[in-house]
Amino acid sequence: MTHNLAIGCDIGGTKIASGIVNTQTGAIIATTRKKTKASDNDLDLVKKIENSIDELLLESKIKTSDITAIGLGIAGMVDRSKGILLEAANIKTGNLSITEPISQKFKIPAYLGNDVEVATIGEMHFGAGQNCENFHCIFVGTGIGSGLVINNKLIQGFTGTAGEIGHIMLIPNGKICGCGNYGCLEAYASRLAISKNILKYINKGYETCITDKIDLDKGILRSKAITDAISKNDKVVINCVLEASNFLAMGISSVLNLINPEKIILGGGLIDVCDLYFQNFCNQLKYYSLKIPGKKTIVQKAQLGDFAGIIGAAKLTQFYL
Ligand SMILES: [Zn+2]
Repeated sequence: MTHNLAIGCDIGGTKIASGIVNTQTGAIIATTRKKTKASDNDLDLVKKIENSIDELLLESKIKTSDITAIGLGIAGMVDRSKGILLEAANIKTGNLSITEPISQKFKIPAYLGNDVEVATIGEMHFGAGQNCENFHCIFVGTGIGSGLVINNKLIQGFTGTAGEIGHIMLIPNGKICGCGNYGCLEAYASRLAISKNILKYINKGYETCITDKIDLDKGILRSKAITDAISKNDKVVINCVLEASNFLAMGISSVLNLINPEKIILGGGLIDVCDLYFQNFCNQLKYYSLKIPGKKTIVQKAQLGDFAGIIGAAKLTQFYL
């Protein structure tokens, strides 16, 4: 029996990915991944997590007696000490107990964190944040979230909501954001912001090769469709990507000036595939920041990709054991 194996679950709005991870090395022993649909019953979310873990154990043939703990990273606001999901897109009522039923079912201790928090923990221990005491890890997707590590410690803040870089206000009375405020960074620099911007060009009659790849009602567009259009030298898409990454650089320049981290780590689907966004961000960050931090701060891509959540959630358990 090994004492280093933990289960990590990465629970997003549309998928649950689980894995058995060696918490000393970060190696993934087995994984399972399933798409999920929104349900009318909040308890279904707990059931889906349990099913994912059941499947993982069955397929890997690893016994629960060999697992030290279960770590869960979930997209939403969490109460870490009570193991409760307070608010999330995939629950209706709020205050959903997550760790208690899961821990009871598998007879293993379970711990809860936010999805961006656990992804940052993953990068901190096994990815781009290794051997770096001060860094800011930013994930660009539909929204923008981040984890801030200062003196080797992940900052949670007074109400446990630190790192919400997507909701710093960039433009007074600007575009409406998912949080209800106006002018947030997320409303200008996320993948959704790029999609909405492209949609605006389409509606004004601009030519772009992306028209049939975009959900015209919701403005949903995949990262791959964006990079395909860039490789075809699509001017509309290139403009929108450059504009979005400029805005991200503006927002993050404030972090450089305020916190002066050693590294900025960028992750998320768009960063993984879109070099134009990443390179332009690096250039513009220098431009918007004060000279010394702008020159010295290292900007790097996250290294764990889709597995950051699983690995980080498994590693999270070690903080409690
Ligand atoms: Zn916002």
